Amino acid sequence: MKQLLSESELHGGVDRVAAEISSKYGNNPITVVAIMTGSLIMLADLIRRLNMPVRVSLIRASSYRGGTTSGQLTIKEDMMLDVSDRDVLVVDDIFDTGKTLQAVVGCVQAMNPRTVATCVLLHKEGRQLVDMKPDFAAFQIPDEFVVGYGLDYQDLYRNLPFLAVLEESDIAAVHH
Ligand code: 5GP
Ligand code: MG
Repeated sequence: MKQLLSESELHGGVDRVAAEISSKYGNNPITVVAIMTGSLIMLADLIRRLNMPVRVSLIRASSYRGGTTSGQLTIKEDMMLDVSDRDVLVVDDIFDTGKTLQAVVGCVQAMNPRTVATCVLLHKEGRQLVDMKPDFAAFQIPDEFVVGYGLDYQDLYRNLPFLAVLEESDIAAVHH
C-alpha cells in the first residue's frame, strides 16, 4: 500500500476546510449531514474544528457493493434530523463521479432546508459525470482507488490514520 496523504497532511486539510466553512457561516448554526460510512473520520475531525452551533445528522448512501467499481446507488434517510429551514452542510469522503453527492443533495433539497452546501475531503480529478462540484474540498487527488481515514475496500482499511492507494497485492490479500 502506497501512502498518499499522511495523518498530519490530512489534519492540515481538515483545518483548511474548517476555516473556510467558519468564514462562510460565521456564528450561524448549521446542520452537518454526513454521508455514511466513508465520511465518519472526516466528520469527527471536522466538527471539532467548528465553533458555531452544529447539529449532526447522518444519511446513508452506498454505491460500491464490495469492490472498486460503482454499482447501484441506495440512499437511506432513517437517521436524518429534520432539516427544514436549516442551513445544511453535506459532508462526504470523496467526490468521484459526483453521482452520490448529487443524489444526496437532491434528497436533502426535498426536505426544504434554507440552504445546502457541500464539503468533501477528497476530489478525484477528471472523473466528474455531473454538473455540480463541491463547495469545499480539502484535497485534489489523482484517479486512483484510495483507502484509509474512513474510506474502505470491502469494508476494511477505514481505520488507517493515513490515506493510501490500494495496490493489486492489497486486493489479493483481502480474505473474507
Ligand atoms: P461518486 O458517486 O462520486 O462516483 O462516488 C462517491 C462514493 O464512491 C464515495 O462516497 C465513496 O464511497 C466511493 N468512492 C469513490 N472513489 C473511491 C475511492 O477511491 N476509494 C474508496 N474507498 N471509495 C471511493
Ligand atoms: Mg461513500
